[in-house]
Amino acid sequence: MTFEELNLAPAIVQAVREQGYDAPTPIQAQAIPVVLQGGDLLAGAQTGTGKTAAFTLPMLHRLSQSEGSRNQWGGKAIRALILAPTRELAAQVEENVRHYATHLDIQSTVIFGGVGMKPQIDRIKKGIDVLVATPGRLLDLQQQGFLDLSTVEILVLDEADRMLDMGFIHDVKKVLALVPKDKQSLLFSATFSDEIRELANGLLKNPQSIQV
Ligand code: AMP
Repeated sequence: MTFEELNLAPAIVQAVREQGYDAPTPIQAQAIPVVLQGGDLLAGAQTGTGKTAAFTLPMLHRLSQSEGSRNQWGGKAIRALILAPTRELAAQVEENVRHYATHLDIQSTVIFGGVGMKPQIDRIKKGIDVLVATPGRLLDLQQQGFLDLSTVEILVLDEADRMLDMGFIHDVKKVLALVPKDKQSLLFSATFSDEIRELANGLLKNPQSIQV
């Protein structure tokens, strides 16, 4: 299996090559076709399996196929939202998004707590396509009127089990209430407790399940 065979846009395949990847990992080979088709996904994968590219590459491909809308400040409206449990993971995921989008006209940013809000607010106003965020700061900015999540087309919950372990279940549910019902949702988790399954059941529509 090659990245070309997965039918990703040439600009994305090129970025992947520049990262030095030769072939998709098993989670990428399984997840990418599902996401490209627009389906919901429930994926069991540990960190280190290449799970970040498994959702990021097809997400970027889909975003690159159409135009988004504008936010209230005239910048690009948010089209994809990736929730992560910690600032470290959020920052790492956003760095991946940026690398893979090098040859695309797709902008991203990351927001998390513990740092000033002003630069995050300015970046959102200027316009981004992909937002990577931890739940608490995301809700903070939304409640202050700086985040409109009604234009989200793709939602990713990364490391959902850690998100729940860290006590973010109420925050995650609040975020889910702010995004459109009609969207593509992807849930990644290393483990599956009853609580994760309940969250998945409420969020995902006819999901494909994959496990690596
Ligand atoms: P992740 O599981 O997303 O944290 O990825 C683990 C590591 O694997 C990261 O350093 C990625 O850059 C790397 N990686 C992801 N996909 C591939 C691939 N197809 N080939 C080689 N390395 C990869």
